[in-house]
Amino acid sequence: MIRPILHYGAPALRQTARPVSAFTPDLSTLVTDMIETMHAAPGIGLAAPQVGEALRVVALDLSVGARPDDLLVLINPEWVSREGMQLEEESCLSLPGLTATVARPARVVVRGRDLKGETVEVSGDGLLARALQHEIDHLDGILFIDRLRGIQRQLLLRDWTRRQPRERS
Ligand code: ZN
Repeated sequence: MIRPILHYGAPALRQTARPVSAFTPDLSTLVTDMIETMHAAPGIGLAAPQVGEALRVVALDLSVGARPDDLLVLINPEWVSREGMQLEEESCLSLPGLTATVARPARVVVRGRDLKGETVEVSGDGLLARALQHEIDHLDGILFIDRLRGIQRQLLLRDWTRRQPRERS
């Protein structure tokens, strides 16, 4: 099921997500929904807080559904190492239409669990390293714009907010 993606301003995007403690059918459903939502958006990554679930779960797929081997689900991810530096443009499904150049480590190794609760370790560089850091940041309530300098962040956010359709309530 495709779930609505929360946008900047939603309090759920600013919470620290809690670790998954049980690998239940509900968790499988959440992951299936996240993958479907990410592919439909379309996007290369999605974190559970973006669909309103405060759990440490991320899904990534650099191929956006084109290559099944690219699909990656990480539960309770932890950094093993991060090194180097890369500067590239980044965007976020929770801030549609906003892109900015963000500094990130160039190479990362991350350890987490898969849907069966088994330990998995992923290493990546370039876009994969960037996407892993972006999604894992979401689990701590951090958005990519928080990685920008204050003035630049304010200007981009002001412009983005102005372009949003008014909420009806
Ligand atoms: Zn994002």
